[in-house]
Amino acid sequence: MGEVTRFAPSPTGPLHLGHAYAAIVAHDMARASGGRFLVRMEDIDRARSRGGWDLAALDDLGWLGLTWDGPVLYQSSRLPAYRAALERLEAMGLLYGCTCTRGDIRAALSAPQEGAFPVIGPDGPVYPGTCRGRPVAEGAAIRLDLTRAVNRTRDLEYRETGPTCPGLRRIDAQAMLSGVGDIVLARRDMGTSYHLSVVLDDAFQGVTTVTRGEDLAEATEIHVLLQRLLDLPTPAYHHHRLIRDDQGKRLAKRDDARALSLYRAEGATPEDIRRMLGLQTIG
Ligand code: GLU
Ligand code: ZN
Repeated sequence: MGEVTRFAPSPTGPLHLGHAYAAIVAHDMARASGGRFLVRMEDIDRARSRGGWDLAALDDLGWLGLTWDGPVLYQSSRLPAYRAALERLEAMGLLYGCTCTRGDIRAALSAPQEGAFPVIGPDGPVYPGTCRGRPVAEGAAIRLDLTRAVNRTRDLEYRETGPTCPGLRRIDAQAMLSGVGDIVLARRDMGTSYHLSVVLDDAFQGVTTVTRGEDLAEATEIHVLLQRLLDLPTPAYHHHRLIRDDQGKRLAKRDDARALSLYRAEGATPEDIRRMLGLQTIG
C-alpha cells in the first residue's frame, strides 16, 4: 500500500543532520511504497518562526534530492481547525482553564503531601491538578482532564513499525494518569499546542505512517488518546533512532554546529550526507 508520510520541522532554526535523517526516512518510505511524501511547517510558535527558516528548510530538502507532494502545509493556517477541536473537547467536559505559572506548579509539587519527587512526563513535571474543574477562560491555558479523558476511551493502542520492538503497542491508560497527567492542549500565547496540532494535521493530511525520532515515542500515547477522543484514525508509528554527535550526545534543536548548510558550504554532496547518516544512497 502506498504510505503517506510527512516531514514536519519547526521552522525556528536551520535543519541539521538529525532533521536530514528524519526527512530522508519519511521520503524514502513514501517513495519505496509508491505513496506520498508531505512537508508540514510546525510554525504555531509564531514569534520563533519568523526567521525565514521555512524557506531555508525547503531549500535544504531540495538540495538533498527530496521531492514532496502537494503544497507545504503551514500550521499557522490551521488555527480554526484547532479551535473547533477544542470546542468539541470542551463540550465533552474534558477541558479546563489553567492560570498556573511554572513557579506555581513547582511550588505545588514541592508541597509535602505531593510526595518527594515530582514525576517528569513528556511535557515536564506532571501537573498537580491545581486548576482542575475551572472553566475555560480567555487568557488561560487549556488543559485536558486526563482522568475524564481516559474514562471515555478504549482500545488505546497503535502499530509500531520502527526498529525497536515493532508490533502492536498497548497503552497503559492508568500509567498515563501518573506519568503524563493533565497536559496543556492550548497554550495561552498560541491557542493550540504541539500535541493537538500534530494529531489534527496528521489526520487532515491523511498520513498513514508517522516517522519521527524515538524521543517523541512518549508523546505518541497522548496522540493516540486524542485520536480516540476526536474520532480520528490512528496511523502507524515508525520511531527511528536519533542522530548523535561525535560525543554521543543527541543533537539538540538549537545545535547549529551541524547545520546542513555548513556541510553544503564545505562541498559535501547529498550522497555524502546519506553515507554519514548510515542511509542507503540512491542510484
Ligand atoms: N515539529 C517537531 C520537531 O521539529 C516534529 C513533530 C513530529 O514529527 O511529530 O521536532
Ligand atoms: Zn493551573
